[in-house]
Amino acid sequence: MPSQDLLQRRFDILGKRAPLFYDDPLHIVRGEGVWLYDSDGRKYLDAYNNVAHVGHCHPRVVDAICRQASTLNTSTRYLHETIVCYAERLAATFSQPDMMVMFCCSGSEANELALRMARECSGGMGVISTANSYHGNTAAVSQVSSLLSPPERRGKQTRTIPVIDPYRDRAGRDDAALVDAYCTEVGKAIDGFEGDGQRFAGMILCSGLSAEGLPDMPKGYMRRVAEQVREAGGFFIADEVQGGFGRFGSHFWGHQVQGVVPDIVTLGKPMGNGHPMAAVIARRHIVERFTEMNPMYFNTFAGNPVSCAAGMAVMDVIEDEGLTGNARATGDYVLTQLHGLAGRHPVIGDVRGRGLFFAVELVRDCESKVPAPDAAKAVINAMRDAGVLISRIGPFDNILKIRPPMPFSRDNADQLIETLNRVLSLLSTQG
Ligand code: PMP
Repeated sequence: MPSQDLLQRRFDILGKRAPLFYDDPLHIVRGEGVWLYDSDGRKYLDAYNNVAHVGHCHPRVVDAICRQASTLNTSTRYLHETIVCYAERLAATFSQPDMMVMFCCSGSEANELALRMARECSGGMGVISTANSYHGNTAAVSQVSSLLSPPERRGKQTRTIPVIDPYRDRAGRDDAALVDAYCTEVGKAIDGFEGDGQRFAGMILCSGLSAEGLPDMPKGYMRRVAEQVREAGGFFIADEVQGGFGRFGSHFWGHQVQGVVPDIVTLGKPMGNGHPMAAVIARRHIVERFTEMNPMYFNTFAGNPVSCAAGMAVMDVIEDEGLTGNARATGDYVLTQLHGLAGRHPVIGDVRGRGLFFAVELVRDCESKVPAPDAAKAVINAMRDAGVLISRIGPFDNILKIRPPMPFSRDNADQLIETLNRVLSLLSTQG
């Protein structure tokens, strides 16, 4: 059993806590489009991986990487056409006309740089983030990633606000009242820094509140939050690492969906379709101030010609294959079908989504809304056994997370929905 042997060797060398999906981990050897193939040749529909944004091993991205890698790969300390063209093309996707680009190699690194910018340019250290957030793994970023660090490890320079949650915490309030209440939490956090003698630097917010469980953010919430942050002298950082590059369908970036104009934006995951690349995009005055205060920002591998060729090919494919439009059309279809399933399966407490990003919240019963993490675990494992890959998120781990590569088609959507329907029916008969 080569996969069992590989699993044991992995445990021995990487440790048992290096995360793996599923009770019966998958040994994937090949990917193509929305499909993944295991070592026995079995085919899985990938309804989870957003890194392979334009599809696994997209030939145009592979070709761009190969061509550039066989021509030249250096750091950004030399002039190179592709680096500048790609940065210009990225900057042009933002509503603000004055965005500048700084390349990084991972989302964590981008958020680390964004925090430094906010802190050094504001002269403060206090940063607000949300409960159950994930922004990355560096020392500073893990302090604002409340999912990783318990309150005692976050330090005085970080304050956590509750996640706006219309499903669990509406309590008879309309959207406006809900927004008011959750904005009060932002105000309290800002005042709290002052009380602690910490100057306020800003706030980092994942523009889809992805790890937080993808709540349906009421209109105006993010915009109000950003205004509050700026009024208090801080910078608003939109973390687009997970949801960017058209995933939400109606807009290229999640913050644009929310009608907010961030000071600093961070990108990563889907940017190179698996090639490790990330970036900080920030207003010119911030970048200029930051670079005046630091002799230089240099990052050996970031923004190299191969990365930029990969990034450029990703942008070409998104445009040429109309993938943002597909995210909207197929996404709307999936959402309607998921709502249909909710009518048939009482374990589904709530369905949320936008573009090709969905959350299906499982509960013991719809009245009490008591989270059902065991059901969620059983569903994702049964889905895997039935050939469809999804995962779960949220503070209670009870939310099915569905976030497929962008070329996901209607046929793929039907397979996803039929399989989920079958799995939920089976599990309900098993009690
Ligand atoms: N921000 C968000 C919202 C993320 O989802 C992630 C990765 N899950 C990161 C930052 C960190 O990115 P990376 O793993 O590339 O460091």
